[in-house]
Amino acid sequence: MFCSEEVKPPEEARLSHEMNGSGYQSLGIDAGRGEEGEEEKEEEKEEEGGGCVLPQDTVCSSGCGTKMWTAALLTVLLSSVDSDEYCYNQPDCDPYAWGDMFPSCHPLLEEHHSPINLDQHTTRNVSLGPLHLEGFDVTQPGHWTLNNDGHSVVLQVGGGMSVSGGGLPDVYHTIQLHFHWGGPATNGSEHTVDRRRFPMEMHIVNMKSIHPNITAALDDPTGLAVLGFFIDVAYAENVHFGHISQKLSSVAYKGQTTRVKPFPLMSLLPKHNMSQYYRYSGSLTTPPCSQVVLWTLYEIPVFISWSQLAQFTSQIFSTEEDADQVTPLQNNFRHVHPTFSRTISASRDARLLAGGAGRPLGSPVSLQLLQMVLLGGFLSAL
Ligand SMILES: [Zn+2]
Repeated sequence: MFCSEEVKPPEEARLSHEMNGSGYQSLGIDAGRGEEGEEEKEEEKEEEGGGCVLPQDTVCSSGCGTKMWTAALLTVLLSSVDSDEYCYNQPDCDPYAWGDMFPSCHPLLEEHHSPINLDQHTTRNVSLGPLHLEGFDVTQPGHWTLNNDGHSVVLQVGGGMSVSGGGLPDVYHTIQLHFHWGGPATNGSEHTVDRRRFPMEMHIVNMKSIHPNITAALDDPTGLAVLGFFIDVAYAENVHFGHISQKLSSVAYKGQTTRVKPFPLMSLLPKHNMSQYYRYSGSLTTPPCSQVVLWTLYEIPVFISWSQLAQFTSQIFSTEEDADQVTPLQNNFRHVHPTFSRTISASRDARLLAGGAGRPLGSPVSLQLLQMVLLGGFLSAL
């Protein structure tokens, strides 16, 4: 019933990946930015001949001392950057290489990345009550659209829903929800709890209502509010989740789209535990990794069946339908990042990780969570 797994081998493997030079370590000029001021960087650029990334004796000997050459090179590089060019499973485009293509994804340049690991280092904020989820408990008119974008399965939910309260600075319109998952034998949530990863994670993305489009929201440090839900596995089918999982076969390949009949979104959520959550400021977990997200992570998971989980891990492909080799989309999660100086707030009713900074746990988090889930199930059955 309870399937979170401790994160160790994947992270160790990825660390060795970094050390092999195909990740952060390969970024000559970028790797130094975390330790230098802007002025020093500009001086260094001038000395090296207008911003050459590689050593002068290998590149600048053929005449790249002119800024015009560099500008032309940068133009070519930037025009080739497309948000579609990132991936999760190839060394040249996986999350450890995103910083090469999208500087704002580089962990040495920016410090407020997501996802993070949640542990007992939280600060209780009694003013954080439940969020107001407008329109989540009714059936919206029209239709929703489910799409395979090559990186996830995205449900565009149109208008009519919004989130506010719970410490959010504004009203945020609900735009879409999507999922992150692992493989047949590995978990794939993005955030972890005491270093344990859940089988899946669902993100409900909401945009601050004052912004006309996502481009404007990405310029606002609190432009997006994302609600994150861990997804765990039980033996019973989740009939509400079936509204989505039953449609997955229609969006097996990248670019495919299908209609979904709207349903009350609240039916997907742990409605008896919506006041138990954690809040922190972070980033998009996909390129361009913009640090504009107020994260709300709920501590009680959504439960789905093994077969519903398998539909994600085996029936979604990251390539075009007519490609020679189709690759199942698996492990579409970004690695966890340090919290640095960020405060992780526990809501007034959060129970799992609100023991105060550094206080040792009385019992394992997984056992505490199991007890809470069982109790919640008992109460909801009354
Ligand atoms: Zn996401």
